[in-house]
Amino acid sequence: MAHNLLSFRDSVDQMFTKAASLMELSPGLEEKIRVCNSTYVVRFGVRLRGQIHTFTGYRAVHSEHMEPVKGGIRYSLDVNQDEVEALAALMTYKCALVEVPFGGSKGGLCIDPRAWNEDELERITRRFTYELSRRNLISPSQNVPAPDMGTGEREMAWMADAYKRLHPDDINAKACVTGKPRHAGGIDGRVEATGRGVQYALREFFRHDDVMKKAGLTGDLGGKRVVVQGLGNVGYHAAQFLSAEDKALVTCVIERDGVIRNPQGINIDALRGHIRATGGVKGFAGGDFTEDGLRALEDDCDILIPAAVESVIDATNADRIRARLIIEAANGPVTADADRILREKGTVIIPDMYANAGGVTVSYFEWVKNLSQISLGRLERRHEEARARMIVEELERLSADTGLNWTLSKGFKESFLTGADELELVRSGLDDTMRESFKKMKEVWVNNPRVDDMRTAAYVVAIRRISNVYNSLGL
Ligand code: NAD
Repeated sequence: MAHNLLSFRDSVDQMFTKAASLMELSPGLEEKIRVCNSTYVVRFGVRLRGQIHTFTGYRAVHSEHMEPVKGGIRYSLDVNQDEVEALAALMTYKCALVEVPFGGSKGGLCIDPRAWNEDELERITRRFTYELSRRNLISPSQNVPAPDMGTGEREMAWMADAYKRLHPDDINAKACVTGKPRHAGGIDGRVEATGRGVQYALREFFRHDDVMKKAGLTGDLGGKRVVVQGLGNVGYHAAQFLSAEDKALVTCVIERDGVIRNPQGINIDALRGHIRATGGVKGFAGGDFTEDGLRALEDDCDILIPAAVESVIDATNADRIRARLIIEAANGPVTADADRILREKGTVIIPDMYANAGGVTVSYFEWVKNLSQISLGRLERRHEEARARMIVEELERLSADTGLNWTLSKGFKESFLTGADELELVRSGLDDTMRESFKKMKEVWVNNPRVDDMRTAAYVVAIRRISNVYNSLGL
């Protein structure tokens, strides 16, 4: 059967409209929230390998109801206006859902990053930053990019440095991008943040019997069979944490060049090492290889984690997906048509705007750190330790004086006497964000008979918050 496949942007808009139709928004507000405010397209030349190469870049600003606006920069040959606008819209809703005080934006550069060496990529990135800066599309107070597919700490460090050179008198210059390496103003725990957020989202899901029941799942994450698509930043960290810390079994990893399966569970670190060394999963000794990546999305499993690109589950394959629970680590992996088919089948979907919000949450912490010019916990840590020591010493004195002779266990004493460092504080803030946002979504999902899935609930929470801002602005 021929299918008219939805564009990514149409998919996001349809999901938004489904939720908005359940709400009583003031006239015109639904459209105001939905539309993308602006998209800047730039074509610039860089002299490389003896000739000028022209590159096309985008920066979409979906909503400025809060500023700065925030969103990653993607390097991929598939980048286009529809995609950045859809991603920018998702950023708006995501920030509202997890209560980080940003509007939504997204950028991209049409480039295959593997086709250029490091020096060339640096020159291209610095030039792109210059183009964005000329239009205030990178700035600590107006627009703050972050990593996305094809970019990481290295690109963010180049962008921050290029911005600083253009604005030497801006004391907040470091806060112009997040996802920087620590030595360039980054924060501990940002690289792993999105994958860590996926883990925290799943842990929270498995704390609620009633929602687990909807997916036909019981118990905890231990032993659950997991399929992961994309072993990049997000997919690798999610898979690694879930297998190493929660004892889930990653039975299948799908990458660009094919699939590795192992029903006993794949050694994620070893596979990541193999991909780094060879460029793909083929030839990995710890599992069976096949080439058909799309088919593997249909593998029998408990949890499917698409962590690569958008629209991989659409009207053509949705009815064959066997996972009971899908957690959208990537942005937009399930189209609106597929979403409908999966809902009818009873598949539970933890939506992207919540599932991968760990990245922007920790980016928010990094931005705050940059503006305050001090690392998290630096003022309190030793003070906290001194107070803990006072309690321990007093307990030991009381125990000796009263003849009870209690001894505190070594493990307890050590961890109680160690003040939280930046990484622990970041994890605590991220965990809190994922738990609280889940509860807000669940409240709407479980208590409103017209809300039949978690995605719609997430949109309702986000739209409500955005509309409150617009209403208080007098719009
Ligand atoms: P990445 O570039 O680090 O990794 C992407 C991985 O997916 C790569 O290993 C790539 O080889 C693989 N891949 C690409 N196309 C594939 C395909 N068709 N089939 C199988 N594998 C494929 O990117 P990332 O930063 O991990 O981002 C992945 C997704 O997560 C994107 O949708 C992105 O928007 C979203 N996301 C990322 C962040 C972040 O902090 N990096 C935050 C929120 C959301």
